[in-house]
Amino acid sequence: MDRPAARPEPRPAVAALPRYVPGARGAADGPPPVKLSSNESPYPPLPSVAQAVAAAGEVAHRYPDMFAVELHERIGAFLGLSAESVAVGGGSVAALHHVLQAYTGAGDEVIFAWRSFEAYPILTQVAGATAVPVPLTEDGRHDLDAMAAAITERTKVILLCSPNNPTGPTLRTAEVEGFLAHVPSRVLVVLDEAYVEFVRDPDVIDGRAALDRHPNLLIARTFSKAYGLAGLRVGYVAGDAELIAPVRSCVTPFSVSAPAQTAAIVSLDARDELLERVEAVVAERGRVADALAELGWTVPDPQGNFVWLAAGERTAEIAAALAAAEPAVLVRPFAGEGIRVTIGTRDENDAMLAALASLGANAS
Ligand SMILES: *Cc1c(COP(=O)(O)O)cnc(C)c1O
Repeated sequence: MDRPAARPEPRPAVAALPRYVPGARGAADGPPPVKLSSNESPYPPLPSVAQAVAAAGEVAHRYPDMFAVELHERIGAFLGLSAESVAVGGGSVAALHHVLQAYTGAGDEVIFAWRSFEAYPILTQVAGATAVPVPLTEDGRHDLDAMAAAITERTKVILLCSPNNPTGPTLRTAEVEGFLAHVPSRVLVVLDEAYVEFVRDPDVIDGRAALDRHPNLLIARTFSKAYGLAGLRVGYVAGDAELIAPVRSCVTPFSVSAPAQTAAIVSLDARDELLERVEAVVAERGRVADALAELGWTVPDPQGNFVWLAAGERTAEIAAALAAAEPAVLVRPFAGEGIRVTIGTRDENDAMLAALASLGANAS
C-alpha cells in the first residue's frame, strides 16, 4: 500500500485561513449587473488620470521608481508631513499588512472592532499574531470601552476603522481621545480612514490632526475609494517617521507599479474634481438612506460610500433575491449579520431600491 507522500505544510495560522471564494458576478448573458458589492467608485478615471496611466504603459518594460520617491513626497506634502512619514503600498490593505508584519508576530495580540474590515483578521493571522475582535455596539459603532478593556500585556497593535466598514458610523474625536488616554504608549494604534473623504459627521476624529498629539498613532488611507483607483492599488500609512521606517522595510520591492504611482500623483493634482464626485455620492447616500428608512430599515449613520442593512437571519435570502433581480444587484452579504450596499450612480441606486422594495424586505 502506497503511503501518501509528505507534502510541504504551510504555517498552521495560514492553513487555518478560509480558502478564497470569488465574489458574486452577474450571469454572462444577462444585462450587466449593478455592482454595489465592493465600495468602488461608480465613476471611471478622469481623462487626465487615464492619459497618465496610458503614458506609463508605454514604458512598462522599465521598473517603476523602487522607492516611489515622488509619490511619497506628494502624499507627505498633502498631509503636511515629510516623505519619510509616509509608507505607500499596493492599496492600503498592503500598507496595513506591512504595519502588522513590522510590529507583530507570534504571541502578539491585535485588537480590532468586529464586524469591521474583513482584511483585519486575515492580515493579523498571516503576520503570525493573534486577533482579538471586540464586538460592535448595537448601532454599528466601535465599543471603545470594551476595546480598552481588551488591552493586555501582549497587545501590540490596535486597529480602528472610521467610518467603520461595513456598518458606516465614524469614530468621534472625544471618544477616541478618551480611548487613547487608556492605551499604553508602547501600543501602536492605526486609524484606518479609507473613506475619510466621504465623511460629513462634524464630530469625526481628524486622524491627521491626531497624529500631532499621539506619537503612537498611524493613519491609513487609500486611493481606491474617493479617488476611484481601486484597480491600480495605491494606499498608504502615515505618522511618525520612526514608526514608519520599519513599515517601509516590509514593503515588497516595486509593488506599487509605475501606472499606479503616476495615477495617484495625477489624482492628487485633480483632487478638487474628484471631490465633486465624492459630493455626488454623498448626496446619493442621503437619498438612499432616506428611501431605506421609508422601506422600514434602520440604517446606522452612513459616513462612507455604503450603507448597512442589518438583515440578520434574512441576509443570505435577501442578497440572493437582489442577485436574481433584473438587472442583477450585487451586494456584500455577511451571513447572519447583514448586507453592505455600496452607493452607486442614481440609476444604480434606484435599481437597488426597487429590487429591495419588491421584496418587502423591511425586516429590521
Ligand atoms: C477599501 C478599504 C481599504 C483599502 O483598500 P485598498 O484598495 O487596499 O486601498 C482599507 N480599509 C478599509 C476599511 C476599506 O474599506
